[in-house]
Amino acid sequence: MAGRIDGKVALITGGASGIGSACALRLAQEGAQVVVTDIQDDLGAAVIAKINRACAAAGTGGSAQYLHHDVTSEDAWIDVIASVRDRYGRLDVLVNNAGIGIACSIVEMSLADWQRQQAINLDGVFLGIKHGIPLMRDGGGQGGMGGGSIINISSVAGLKGSPRLAAYNATKGGVRLLTKGVALECAREGWNIRVNSVHPGVIDTPIWTKVSPGGFEPGANEIDVAAMAEAMVPTGVLGKPLDIANGVLFLASDESKYMTGTELVIDGGVSA
Ligand code: NAD
Repeated sequence: MAGRIDGKVALITGGASGIGSACALRLAQEGAQVVVTDIQDDLGAAVIAKINRACAAAGTGGSAQYLHHDVTSEDAWIDVIASVRDRYGRLDVLVNNAGIGIACSIVEMSLADWQRQQAINLDGVFLGIKHGIPLMRDGGGQGGMGGGSIINISSVAGLKGSPRLAAYNATKGGVRLLTKGVALECAREGWNIRVNSVHPGVIDTPIWTKVSPGGFEPGANEIDVAAMAEAMVPTGVLGKPLDIANGVLFLASDESKYMTGTELVIDGGVSA
């Protein structure tokens, strides 16, 4: 059976864990050649082994490869895009997913933590867009005419504020409007590139074990994410990485061809 994104080449940052790894598997299951990048090389290797096994067993045309890639480094982006160009000659889908969350009172946050979070969550997305667009524009797309889909992972925290997450709010709100500006530039230039943001709510991933320093409550370092979902999410249900991956698959596919500059909110009703 034909996959929903057969033959497309997709690059997913932060793909060794959580939402990124679920996206990589989902896109490969639907026929994409997936390039997973991250700084956690052992996890990345395990993710692509799992994807390649699953695709071989299912007989889909999808596959995965892994590249070490720190999204804050412009040189690393240049190398990664060159590697994709050399291997595939095209890029159809870019998922700017890598991110961290630092929960901290704004009056206690160090400038170093502010800048680290901005560098990964916002500079990384900017660099992906800057270096991904030329390869997307010049190769790929329908019938080799160029074009593609850029999917930027923002958050519900990019739509509304949260105490002790103001700095994270700033990065994710930045991703939301960066997305819209770039979508309009791509449309005006006729590059056939769609750019959308995805806004997950509370999703069960390792990110919640890493929201240092301080956690969401003073003195708390461990987040009970299931209890938090029960309290915060109108449906009471904790989201799964696959819930986000299914939305990303839709935006990656031609089923969403009339969507650009918009926000796909997947949050069990949190933002409503
Ligand atoms: P995760 O910690 O499981 O995965 C994030 C990945 O990003 C990790 O593999 C990590 O190694 C990678 N990463 C971190 N710094 C990097 C860097 N400098 N260069 C390259 N890779 C780097 O977390 P997740 O929950 O899967 O998060 C994925 C995205 O979803 C993030 O942008 C996050 O802000 C967003 N998000 C998550 C939730 C949630 O509830 N889990 C909610 C809203 C938004």
